[in-house]
Amino acid sequence: MTDVDVVIVGAGAAGLAAAKTLRAAGREVRVLEAMDRIGGRSWTRSEDFGVPFDIGCAWLHAGDRNPFMSDAERLGWTTHMHNMGLDHLYFGSRKATADELASVSAADARVAQALAGGAADDRLSSLLDQGGAMRASATYAGPMDFGKDADEISVEDFNAAADLYPDYFTREGFGALIAAWAADVPVNLNTVVTRIDWSGPDVEVETSRGTVRAQAAIVTVSTGVLAFEDIRFTPALPVRHFEAAFDLPMGLLTKIPVEIHGGIPGINPFDDLLIERHARHDLYFLCFPFNLPLMVGFVGGDFAWEIETVGKDAAVDFVTDRLVDIFGSVFRKRVGRSLMTNWGGERRTRGAYASARPGRAEARSILAEPVGERIWFAGEALAGALMQTAGGARLSGESVARDVLNTI
Ligand SMILES: Cc1cc2nc3c(=O)[nH]c(=O)nc-3n(C[C@H](O)[C@H](O)[C@H](O)COP(=O)(O)OP(=O)(O)OC[C@H]3O[C@@H](n4cnc5c(N)ncnc54)[C@H](O)[C@@H]3O)c2cc1C
Repeated sequence: MTDVDVVIVGAGAAGLAAAKTLRAAGREVRVLEAMDRIGGRSWTRSEDFGVPFDIGCAWLHAGDRNPFMSDAERLGWTTHMHNMGLDHLYFGSRKATADELASVSAADARVAQALAGGAADDRLSSLLDQGGAMRASATYAGPMDFGKDADEISVEDFNAAADLYPDYFTREGFGALIAAWAADVPVNLNTVVTRIDWSGPDVEVETSRGTVRAQAAIVTVSTGVLAFEDIRFTPALPVRHFEAAFDLPMGLLTKIPVEIHGGIPGINPFDDLLIERHARHDLYFLCFPFNLPLMVGFVGGDFAWEIETVGKDAAVDFVTDRLVDIFGSVFRKRVGRSLMTNWGGERRTRGAYASARPGRAEARSILAEPVGERIWFAGEALAGALMQTAGGARLSGESVARDVLNTI
């Protein structure tokens, strides 16, 4: 491999954005991607249901600030504003009462008030009411939002995340949108970066297909990949950077979409349905998006790691049984194709997205510091208030690319 100005590790939203920014400034870049496709955690597939389905990111969050919104318009994507709500709440198979729904809203308001009042950094569970009906509020905030149970989430980190309203869903797929937006970026696929040597004046990046030398490297792999040391650094990263990766462990969100033919009485396209169970075995459904015959189940946090371990068949049985519990056994016969996403078992991501351990919210700013004016980190974990989102990952990649341009 030949020398270039900047090597970019990873062709997800952050890496592709960094490449576009540097190329627009006339710099020569080499994007190295371990997978056989671009997009990383953004990935739309049509093989499973015959229509586009997002295995990774699906909502264009914070639509008023999301840089992908204008691309969606330019490329003619069909968008639908959909903010996650609570159209249908069940406790097991029992429908929540109006009083219970009101208590969930009151719990939400209490948490918002505590956060606005500058709650001290602690486990998020210390602020959330986990008892009775109010535990539904904790389910959205923890497993379904951060991909973690509330006792593993830092209050300060949670508070630093933006309110993602308004959210948009696309018919053609968010992953497909990102792939179309980045179609002009040359990427070396199937190229696994194994070592970054920054002992000299440049960086030498060793890969499964040779070594490339550059003035700087932008590393966009997830904190899960960093913490497992799939990429070795020579010399080792400063301890504070290395520890920061461990202080930003990956959460997990698992989608278990099932086709349900013939609809479900009383359930409308884009309705939100939450089934509260015990010990965080909760299940959320996005119902029939764009009137497709799909009930898209989601589980998050520890339960997601558990369910991915037992595999697709058990996961689909779990989802089907919960629908049958509520709507009746007739729905078992109406189940068609299904799938389970498996980001926990994906070596190149090792989870869905990162968040700080309680008491370690500063890890994000530490990891964002450049190393030796040669190595920069970017990606969803370093996306400021738009942390965990694909739009935020893109903005992080663009911003780091500008820093690199100012330095090299
Ligand atoms: C199930 C799920 C649902 C989500 N829902 C939403 C949503 O609705 N809206 C939203 O905005 N966001 C959502 N997200 C988050 C969003 O997908 C991510 O924040 C974003 O895509 C991350 O982009 P990135 O560029 O930071 O990282 P990545 O996309 O992970 O890109 C990093 C790349 O580095 C590559 N890589 C790893 N190791 C190596 C190596 N050794 N050598 C070379 N390359 C390597 C990886 O293969 C990957 O392609 C969701 C994520 C998941 C998993």
